[in-house]
Amino acid sequence: MARYTEAVCKLCRREGQKLYLKGERCFKDKCGFEKKGYPPGQHGQMRKKISDYGMQLREKQKVKRIYGVLEAQFRVYFAKAVQREGITGENLLQILERRLDNVVFRSGFASSRNEARQFVNHNHFVVNGKKINIPSFQVRPGDVVELKEKSRKIPRINESLETAEGRGIPEWVTVDKSGYKSTVNRLPARDDIAYDIHEHLIVELYSK
Ligand code: SF4
Repeated sequence: MARYTEAVCKLCRREGQKLYLKGERCFKDKCGFEKKGYPPGQHGQMRKKISDYGMQLREKQKVKRIYGVLEAQFRVYFAKAVQREGITGENLLQILERRLDNVVFRSGFASSRNEARQFVNHNHFVVNGKKINIPSFQVRPGDVVELKEKSRKIPRINESLETAEGRGIPEWVTVDKSGYKSTVNRLPARDDIAYDIHEHLIVELYSK
């Protein structure tokens, strides 16, 4: 499966904000961005003027990195967002949030989206009782994402659930920790996404 292999903390430093890509470490003093909050590289600490195009590009890169999505799939999501009613940028973020790997992460079963993707790929979850091992699977209101019985002893998942509340569980899912289930109450709204994202810049970029 294609994925980013660059040292992940560099990605946060490149984007100038914490993207929470490394699980628990992101919430501790060890966070690479807390230690070095400037871009990586020899000239990282020099202030550079950035063009409008550069800002649009950076915003797109940032969102792709947060959700761990590569360019081709991101373009497909954008095309779907355009076709839907409503505000394109918000539609795009909603499509990203509805990915199964994101739901597994946001529900607290994994401490990062990358880890959630691995768990989904390794067949640890069912949706409405059916095996789904596709991280990009789109959840719908009413869907129940459940950890398989045989996977309930995995230490990483249990540790992650223990600390999930500290990372924040969004209101559009209801998590039953003891039942290892998460129910999708409704579609995620823009206000449910706490990241500092300026999605209109991405729309401007793709509208050129
Ligand atoms: Fe980003 Fe997490 Fe690394 Fe901090 S620890 S720089 S938030 S990936």
